[in-house]
Amino acid sequence: MTDSREPRSVKCSFCGRDGSEVTSMVAGPDVYICDICIKTSVDILKNNVASFTKKETYHASLTPDLMKKSLDEYVIDQDLAKKILAVAVYNHYKRVSAATSLFDMDEVEIEKSNILLIGPTGVGKTLLAQTLARILDVPFAIADATTLTEAGYVGDDVETVLVRLLQAADYNLEKAQKGIVYIDEIDKIARKSESVSITRDVSGEGVQQALLKILEGTVAGVPPRGGRKHPEQSLININTKNILFVCGGAFEGIENIVASRINRNPIGFDTNISNNEDLNKDNLLTQIQPEDMVKYGLIPELVGRLPIIAPLHSLNNKALKNILTEPKNAIIKQYKKLFMMEGVELEFDPLALEEIVKKAFERKTGARALRSIVEGILLDIMYELPTQENVDKCLVTRDVVTKGERPLYIESDRKTA
Ligand code: ADP
Repeated sequence: MTDSREPRSVKCSFCGRDGSEVTSMVAGPDVYICDICIKTSVDILKNNVASFTKKETYHASLTPDLMKKSLDEYVIDQDLAKKILAVAVYNHYKRVSAATSLFDMDEVEIEKSNILLIGPTGVGKTLLAQTLARILDVPFAIADATTLTEAGYVGDDVETVLVRLLQAADYNLEKAQKGIVYIDEIDKIARKSESVSITRDVSGEGVQQALLKILEGTVAGVPPRGGRKHPEQSLININTKNILFVCGGAFEGIENIVASRINRNPIGFDTNISNNEDLNKDNLLTQIQPEDMVKYGLIPELVGRLPIIAPLHSLNNKALKNILTEPKNAIIKQYKKLFMMEGVELEFDPLALEEIVKKAFERKTGARALRSIVEGILLDIMYELPTQENVDKCLVTRDVVTKGERPLYIESDRKTA
């Protein structure tokens, strides 16, 4: 390509202007372009870049506030965890789009921040991660840390998590590489003791090391259909750099580590001690520091890769009641729909709901027990309903829940009409 101001007689191949009408003319093999057309082309390119970047920052339009509001539709309470998650996810996708943006000229590289959800069982950790993926419309995969092994051992090796993500993305590699992976029970692979001795439990540590690699960002070759790798099999290379890892765990007993750290430090002495055991535990969980997790048995490198800690609190009766009835796909709403398909309106007496909540609370598994309790109560009803005629409404009273009595069937007056 040359700057061809001579001879003056050449014409721009794009607009046809003569060389004498323009300031500059760039020559290619048998073509010329004038400075005016170059400027127009640059403008067109700039516009394209802007719309390309807009597409890439799609998630940026989903502000933390909007994200939290969407989470609220499915997950009851857990406001602090929702806020922390929303900000973390917002920043995560900003980082991803900055990395792919054509404007990323500076040297500042935003580091990936994976998230750790800490809280008792059945309080919404998995649900939060799953709902986030749904809101963001990205592929989602769940793995249980206790079933993961180091490569070469019997069990799922850590990379099978990535295979699941790829499957969730319908084998669209690009999509999978921006997905969310939830790793449950991360606390169960903790070393049994902090002290590094020859008798230490290394099995957990090996899995932690393997997890660390994919959390940090690596290119992992995975067999497309899962299972073991075979030398003759072609592998798919998944880059985990932009995959968001959310880990969850109950960290049973970590509150004691937090308490002894706080109480050892006179300035940080915890004055919020109350008689409610759950409240105390919840309060201590909000004060967890990375060092507590190391003490618990996670390797410092892994803790370092989970810099965002979102604590979830235990659920009280009011929250359990709301979970039964409020979320978009609340359990009671689901059964109402099932009954409606049978032409029957299902109703629960508020006292019946209270009893269900009481039963669930006693099981100490958070909201997890709610579904099986409701299923148990409705089993006989669902068994006999299809053979009952003219039933318009089924009212579940308190005695149905506490004494296993039959519900009130309200019959239609269709027969007499
Ligand atoms: P975990 O904290 O052990 O991961 P899950 O998220 O798997 O608990 O919740 C277990 C069940 O209880 C799920 O069916 C979920 O729908 C329900 N659940 C738990 N917590 C909440 C919550 N805060 N809001 C709505 N549903 C919840």
